[in-house]
Amino acid sequence: MIGAQDFRALFELSADSQYLLTTNGFIKEINQTAHERLGYSKAEMLGEHIGKFMLLDLAAITDGNPNKIEEHEFAICESTEVRKDGSVLSVEICSRALELNAQKVIFSAVRDISRRKKIECALRESEEKYRSLFEESFDGLFVTTPTGEITDINRKGILMFGYDSKDEMLRLDLEKDVYVYPPDRNKFLSMVHANGFAEYEVIVKKKSGEQITSWCSLTAVENKEGLITSYRGIIRDITEKKRSEDLIWQQANFDTLTGLPNRNMFRDCLNQEMQKSDREGFLLALLLIDLDQFKEVNDTLGHVVGDLLLQDAAYRIQACIRGSDTVARLGGDEFMVLLSGIYEAGHVERIAQKIVNKLTEPFQLGSEVAYVSASIGITLYPNDSADIDSLIKNADQAMYVAKGKGRNQFSYFTQSLQVMAQSRLRMINDLRGALNAKQFFLHFQPIVEMSTGLIHKAEALIRWRHPELGMISPADFIPLAEETGLIHEIGDWVFKETAKWAKFWGNIYLDENCQLSVNMSPVQFLHGGRTCENWVEFLADLGLSGNNMVVEITEGLLLNAESTVTDTLLNFRDAGLQVAIDDFGTGYSSLSYLNKFDIDYLKIDRSFVSNLEADANNMALSEAIIVMAHKLGLKVIAEGVETEGQRSLLSEFGCDYAQGYLFSKPVFPEEFEELLNSQVVLSPR
Ligand code: C2E
Ligand code: CA
Ligand code: CA
Repeated sequence: MIGAQDFRALFELSADSQYLLTTNGFIKEINQTAHERLGYSKAEMLGEHIGKFMLLDLAAITDGNPNKIEEHEFAICESTEVRKDGSVLSVEICSRALELNAQKVIFSAVRDISRRKKIECALRESEEKYRSLFEESFDGLFVTTPTGEITDINRKGILMFGYDSKDEMLRLDLEKDVYVYPPDRNKFLSMVHANGFAEYEVIVKKKSGEQITSWCSLTAVENKEGLITSYRGIIRDITEKKRSEDLIWQQANFDTLTGLPNRNMFRDCLNQEMQKSDREGFLLALLLIDLDQFKEVNDTLGHVVGDLLLQDAAYRIQACIRGSDTVARLGGDEFMVLLSGIYEAGHVERIAQKIVNKLTEPFQLGSEVAYVSASIGITLYPNDSADIDSLIKNADQAMYVAKGKGRNQFSYFTQSLQVMAQSRLRMINDLRGALNAKQFFLHFQPIVEMSTGLIHKAEALIRWRHPELGMISPADFIPLAEETGLIHEIGDWVFKETAKWAKFWGNIYLDENCQLSVNMSPVQFLHGGRTCENWVEFLADLGLSGNNMVVEITEGLLLNAESTVTDTLLNFRDAGLQVAIDDFGTGYSSLSYLNKFDIDYLKIDRSFVSNLEADANNMALSEAIIVMAHKLGLKVIAEGVETEGQRSLLSEFGCDYAQGYLFSKPVFPEEFEELLNSQVVLSPR
């Protein structure tokens, strides 16, 4: 049997603090736990009001009506105990009203719940933290049911979709109401299945109806049984990014002026069509179209009109082909057409002719009318070549053939063109080693003073003795040297070699008038005329006066206003080097700028001289050139004088010097020396 003593012990040892209170809250009795937990002695607490030890509103126990306490079996509330040392403890108070010895009392059990409180608090904090991360995310975040109904969405998401509140969105179905083209559900599910998430780009409809492109990533949330209970999604508006990517792509692949694909895009198309041709066995034709005389239109009517012409030309070319064919602008006035699905070669020819005809029609450009024509080079795939670069090169070569044949026509790439192209490549290769292998040598062609018939001058002309091909004309290899930049080294060699001969012959013939000329390519003036830089020094080291050397340049060079040209020419003048204009009469033939550059000689071109006797016009022009040149203080040299008739006419006009087969062909230095020797004997000075 448990006696009263035992109940007392249970009361004292209970883990909860136990209180017996009067109905107005004064302590009648407490257990050991109660005062020990608070740090008081029992005596200190008895008779005190409970409110001294607890932030307790008695109303919480009595529910606002102390008289009603009997009606309550239990009253449970939370409160805070205040210890003697001031520290606090969260507690839960469970109270009930009793009658003890015919007196109403309140019995309260007070339990320490601070551990539970701490956990609750931490949970609430972390929930708030994630909520605020969720809300403040830069991306739109949302949760949906497995079927796609939105159950939660953050501020950014609401903003992105253009809605006013979360509530409005909670009713929406992602796939039905928001996505414009929902991702294929099966594909989506298999993605989720494989990776646990799915990412896709999707067009999204805003509340206003406006559409934006967004990137969406959905993660599946599964329960213990592996069933998907919801999806968590991240969504980002990538409309701007897409737009600028599209723009960059557009700029990288299309020509801004005509809107046609550019070279880049054309290569892509060609590549694809080549694969298709391989599969399906049809031919492809590449037509490279170059507008003839476009430069003239641009120069005379201006770039704005030039641009209009190009746009119109693009339009006309497009009108000549099928929608499945491609037109591209490669740059400048060059267009490329790709004809696909060809089974019959005649088809290509008809289109090429149509384009040629269309482009010859007058161009009405604002108030101006312009005329151009077109030269077209055609090559076929796979017949002519199997790779893109060669195909484009083929078309280019064929186009030049068309131009060479007098423009306004088309020309096919042929095997012989290929052979030519190959031999050209070989020649370039061989040219690289020619200087070291000492395959170059010089010929000199005497220049005769017309009044005396004496030779003090000669033009140095380079020769190339190719080990297998024999002699190659400078007319054939100089353009290649120019193209490859080898002209710098070659020109340098010619100048220095010639200067040495000038020194030698000047010495032995005691002729301070001895003057040798070298030809200079316009290319040698590029890149700051780098090889000419040391020429002046070279002459000084040699002890040769600048006056003993002449450089022959072409008229076109003077039109080039670049400072490197002017600088180099000024350098020459300062060193006393003389300058001759070569081939005068074939180019712009304007005397006006000759003065600006301190030119010493004018060489009338051979084509002029050879027609001298037959053509009265030529005669008058030649005479006029000579008279005007003299007025400007220039001496005149006639080139290519072959007949006595030409010589006497030129002499009559007052021409100063003559050069040509009539006097001598270009000859080896030894032979030239013989010529000098013979005139020493004939006319000793
Ligand atoms: P060019 O400067 O006009 O040289 C004159 C060309 O006419 C030379 O041809 C010469 O042999 C030829 N010729 C001279 N008199 C007559 C004639 O009475 N009748 C005919 N039919 N032809 C005559 P070549 O030596 O074949 O040189 C061709 C061109 O190659 C030169 O034309 C020149 O532009 C260029 N060239 C030659 N040597 C050099 C050089 O060292 N450097 C550079 N950059 N070009 C050079
Ligand atoms: Ca010359
Ligand atoms: Ca010439």
